Amino acid sequence: MSKRNIKMIGIAVLSVIVALELVYIAGSIIKKHGSEQQHVSGIVGTVSLSTKTAKINNTAIPAYNISGTEGLYFTNGDLALFGFECSENENDIVLSHPGSTYELTSEQFVQTDTKTAASTSLKKLTAGAMQYDCFNLGDQLLISSDALSALGEATDSPDTNTLYFFFGTADEIAAAKEVSAAEISSAAAQNAAPSDTPEMTIETSSSKPIIVLDPGHGKSSSLMSAEEKAASGWVQNSSGAWGEWRHYKIGSSTVDCEGTGCNGRVTPNGACWYPIGNSDRSTEPDINLKNALAAKSALEEKGYEVRMTRTTNDENPSITKRISYCYPNNDTSLTADAAMFVCIHSNAGGGSGSAYISLEAPYDQRGIKDTYAEDSNTLGKYINDSIISSTSLKMSGNGVISFEPELIAFCKSPVTCGYLEIGFFDNSSDLSILQSEYEQIGKAIADGIDKYYTETNQ
Ligand SMILES: [Zn+2]
Repeated sequence: MSKRNIKMIGIAVLSVIVALELVYIAGSIIKKHGSEQQHVSGIVGTVSLSTKTAKINNTAIPAYNISGTEGLYFTNGDLALFGFECSENENDIVLSHPGSTYELTSEQFVQTDTKTAASTSLKKLTAGAMQYDCFNLGDQLLISSDALSALGEATDSPDTNTLYFFFGTADEIAAAKEVSAAEISSAAAQNAAPSDTPEMTIETSSSKPIIVLDPGHGKSSSLMSAEEKAASGWVQNSSGAWGEWRHYKIGSSTVDCEGTGCNGRVTPNGACWYPIGNSDRSTEPDINLKNALAAKSALEEKGYEVRMTRTTNDENPSITKRISYCYPNNDTSLTADAAMFVCIHSNAGGGSGSAYISLEAPYDQRGIKDTYAEDSNTLGKYINDSIISSTSLKMSGNGVISFEPELIAFCKSPVTCGYLEIGFFDNSSDLSILQSEYEQIGKAIADGIDKYYTETNQ
């Protein structure tokens, strides 16, 4: 994409933000002067997906934060899937849970617009014996975790960063608690283990963490058999087409979104479904592999352990499969043991020079830190700056590609994720540098990773 196009997109995004703000301001003014002014508190904060997970009888439900307020919020539409009923009468809205076992036959969670403002509901929400403020977001109600707690039981676990709710009969609650207790104690054990081990290892042998290097693309999908696609992590959708899902369900690292239960953010012209053919490239796979293998050697010389997502040009794992290398034995239900996931690509389509692709929250896969986006951007910048300063490649534009924060790798990585577009392989001058300087490029990648690790682990 050209610099001009990037600029146009920037201007378009800014215009939308300004327009939305004007709408909110106008909305507040209208409400303040409307007939119901004595009841309306107007706009509260903006809504974002919470980085904290919430589960009802061990099934994750999308949880939201509203800036300026405490706690987690859920939409009445999502709660309805769990058997909650919201009935509105003259004075208030009553939230109840009939107490029978719910059957979550559909995971049609409500696609709620984040980054938009919630407003205070005209009526209070009654749950149990108490009344709570609730909020409107479009035609949805946002109901606080406190109101849910009033109707059932709740456990908050820092080890899993999860708020667990239990509803139903005494037997159902006991069974659900057993499952969550096992999850919490397993997470507590894993949280305790790394803090012992790395400190010991660093002191005794100064060994460094695990880096996953991902040379982008690979074998053409047209040359892969169905068995090979399945073994490489690709899946079929309901139409039988091969590809992969862009997101996990919110708070998950094991369950693909399949189009619902995710934040729904997609790349320009993209969708939750990513067809396998979209990853086919000529020329680029070998360039990426050479750069990555050179980076691997340089990192190992510095004492890092390196995992490669592919080691030949005769394979083409899905991004979901590539991400799995961040976990012990590729088991995404465990806690990730890699420190960084670094995607090594080369650009095309008119341009020259090197850049990194930047992230922009929200992301909601299990395991990421609150600082995931900024950490990843710092890593991407350090690697790109290192490439510019020690190879013949120039900076592409300002060095940042900021219009694709919804890449699958960003939406699924559990760890700091750097994403490099190193030179333009369809630019003859860049191509000759890529073909002759991959050793220097690999070393520059390793230096950028090492700078990031050193700065963040003092
Ligand atoms: Zn999705």
